[in-house]
Amino acid sequence: MADLPGEELHALVSRLYPITRSITGQGVRQTLEILSSVAPLRIVEVPSGAEVLDWTVPPEWNLREAWIRGPDGKRVLDVRDHGLHLVSYSVPVRARLPLSQLRPHLHALPGQPDAIPYRTSYYEPSWGFCLTQRQLDSLPEGEYEVCVDASLSPGQLVWGEAVLPGESDEEVLVSAHVCHPWLADDNCSGMAIAAHLARRFAALPRRRLTMRFLFAPGTIGAIAWLARNRERADRVRHGMTLTCLGDAHPFTWKRSFAGTAEIDRAARHVLARSGLPHQLIDFFPYGYDERQYNSPGFRLPVGSLMRGRHGQFPEYHTSADDLSFVSPARLAESFAVCSSILELLQANGRYRNLHPDGEPQLGRRGLYRALGGTDIPGLQFAMLWVLNLSDGSHSLLDVAERAGLDFPAVRAAADLLLQHGLLAPA
Ligand code: ZN
Repeated sequence: MADLPGEELHALVSRLYPITRSITGQGVRQTLEILSSVAPLRIVEVPSGAEVLDWTVPPEWNLREAWIRGPDGKRVLDVRDHGLHLVSYSVPVRARLPLSQLRPHLHALPGQPDAIPYRTSYYEPSWGFCLTQRQLDSLPEGEYEVCVDASLSPGQLVWGEAVLPGESDEEVLVSAHVCHPWLADDNCSGMAIAAHLARRFAALPRRRLTMRFLFAPGTIGAIAWLARNRERADRVRHGMTLTCLGDAHPFTWKRSFAGTAEIDRAARHVLARSGLPHQLIDFFPYGYDERQYNSPGFRLPVGSLMRGRHGQFPEYHTSADDLSFVSPARLAESFAVCSSILELLQANGRYRNLHPDGEPQLGRRGLYRALGGTDIPGLQFAMLWVLNLSDGSHSLLDVAERAGLDFPAVRAAADLLLQHGLLAPA
């Protein structure tokens, strides 16, 4: 597995975390600018009002300030203290009102009295604030002053993509959502890992498959990308969304719609051989942008890799998903798993044994000597398996699965056999 120091990933997560992001606006641009320092991103804009599939790109939302002043004139809440304090996409408001009228606009979590919830109001014009239950309970009766100084005006929906050309125009898509403010695991972890993957694969001298790393606002970003890339979308042969990859939960691979795509098998193989605790679950049409890619009009084979699962851990979509919730070690582990999945897809292939009648004599061709020069476990068995299954219809991943060997050993065996003239691409 390819190593990247977890500290480097955590440092990027830390830069991305305290930005008041939403689906549009300066927060997204700032985020993409930071990601551009790691990955070769191209920025794409779609104007507000544009029709994208069944959706319309909303007005751009930009926030200057948002706060609440108590009856004594002191600020009881300020979005500067925590980006989750404001309901994302709140419409502008300037008002004085009694606590009883303010209350319907305040959101807290009675079951988690110290956590601020994350709330959005993208497609329904309203405003609101989020706070801890303890803060809410401590608010005295009286008149409050509320300020949301935000603009909702014609602008752009923005995403970033890094495209790394390969020998084939068949593509691998890696997609991370970039719209959540002040949440470290969801999805600064996914953004940071995707950006570093792009950097790592951009540095390779050659790639078999074209790779596309997409950093887009959740739902509307993926929908707009699909709308603007209908032709190109058909080239996506493998894909995964990355989310919640810095927490301490075991890995979960959420399968593509079909569940049997090459990326489903690649993820299963890498996770199984990693020895790390994990589970494989079937596709369902909620979660993150895999649901757009797998919609019936596209059915792109896109799965999702995560640790903590969507909506299933207490820190999810609350202020408890902070920088201490994600660790360098877990980020590094997640990066290694993602990297291995992508390497496998890049290195997979079908071959034909050029001496299929009986077993070729390996000693005479110097292959046993060649084996002595490596320390790859299982390489000799891998060679016999590759020779046996290379009838043009089995891929190297088929070989690895059937032989119960690590994919890199099978790939190394195939390379040796290619060098010694025993194998040819099918
Ligand atoms: Zn989320």
